[in-house]
Amino acid sequence: MRTTTGWLANASDTSDGRSGSAASASPDSPAGSAPALRRSSLERRDLRPDDLAVRVDFCGVCHSDLHALHALREGATLVPGHEFTGVVTATGAAVTRFAAGDPVAVGNIVDSCGTCPMCRAGQENFCHTFPTLTYGGSDRQDGSATLGGYSREYVVRDAFAYALPAGLDPAGAAPLLCAGVTVWEPLRALGVGPGSRVAVAGLGGLGHLAVKMAVALGAATTVISRTPDKAEDARRLGAHGLLVSTDEGQMDRARDSFDVVIDTISAPHDLGPYLRLVTLDGTLSLLGHLGRVDVNAMDLLIGRKKLSSAGSGGRPATAAMLEFCAEHGITADVEVLPSARVNEALERLGRNDVRYRFVLDLSDLDAPAPGSDT
Ligand SMILES: [Zn+2]
Ligand SMILES: [Zn+2]
Repeated sequence: MRTTTGWLANASDTSDGRSGSAASASPDSPAGSAPALRRSSLERRDLRPDDLAVRVDFCGVCHSDLHALHALREGATLVPGHEFTGVVTATGAAVTRFAAGDPVAVGNIVDSCGTCPMCRAGQENFCHTFPTLTYGGSDRQDGSATLGGYSREYVVRDAFAYALPAGLDPAGAAPLLCAGVTVWEPLRALGVGPGSRVAVAGLGGLGHLAVKMAVALGAATTVISRTPDKAEDARRLGAHGLLVSTDEGQMDRARDSFDVVIDTISAPHDLGPYLRLVTLDGTLSLLGHLGRVDVNAMDLLIGRKKLSSAGSGGRPATAAMLEFCAEHGITADVEVLPSARVNEALERLGRNDVRYRFVLDLSDLDAPAPGSDT
C-alpha cells in the first residue's frame, strides 16, 4: 500500500469536537451537525497496470461533499473531494496516455462497467451498474471504499483521468470537473450555441459556470435572481441581462422567451414560474434540486415545453469541456484555502458564503501537522 495524508470524517465526531475556526459553526447552519474532518494518514492501493498516482494539488469543495458528510452513518468514515487537479507522479506498466509530470484533472467518477449501452455511448456517468464514485464508492476490483481528493495523493485508472490543458489555472480548473461538466453536458445536449437564448437560475458553483459557458458558446445569456443585487455579478460573468424572479412584471414580460432555462437552485421550489419562461418546444433543465418535484402538466402543455435533468459527465464530454474552457479561458471563480481550513470552508459553504467555489490547496499536507505524527 501507498501511504498519504488527507482529511477524514468519522460519523462519531460531531461539530462539538471541532477545533479552530470551525468550532464557531452556527447551530442553524447545516454544517453545524456534520462531522468535522480531521487530518489523518490514509492508504492508497499499489498501482495496477492501468493506474496513475496523482499528487493532488487543488480540490474543489462541492455541495455533494457537505451532503455526504451529513448522510454519514454512525461508525462510517469518509474522505470527500471529487473535483481535483494535480500532477502525475507514477504510472502503471500499461499506461501510455500519461507520464510522470503531466498535469491532470479527475472528477467524480473513477470507474464504470465499460460495456453497458451508456458506457458504450460515452456516458459513463449513467452506467447501468452505477459508476464508481471518487469517494464513498467501492473499487470494482478489490471492493475497498474509495477515498476522495481531500488528500495529497489519489490513485486512479488512467481512463478516468483527464489531461489538464496548458493555460488553465489548476485551482480554478478543479471545479470544472464536477460543477463544470454538470452544466456543460446539458448545454451541449440541448444544442446551445450562437443565437440561443439561455437563462440561468441560481448563481452558485453550478450557475456561475453555466453563465460563463453559455456566453462562450455564443448564447444570449440572462441570470435569474431573486434580488436585483446580483446585477453586477451577472455582468462580470459575461451575462447580457438580469431577470428578478420576485418581480412579477419582469417575469411576465420574459414569458416564453428562453430556449433553455438552466435551473441550479438547490432548494425545493415551484417550477411553474421557470417553465413559463421557456419558449415553444424549449427546455427547463433541472440541475440543482435532485429530489421529487411537483409539476403541473399544464405548464408543460402550454408551449410543448420539456423538463429535463442531468448530472456529472461522461469521459468524452469531460475532455471536450476542458478543451473548450482552455480555448475560452474559463475557470471557476474560486476562493483558495489551505486544506487545514477545510472545516471552515464546509461551514461557510453550508450558508452559501462563497463566490463561487472553495478550493483546497493540499500542499500544506506536505508539512508535518502541528503536534501530530502525520
Ligand atoms: Zn460535486
Ligand atoms: Zn456501464
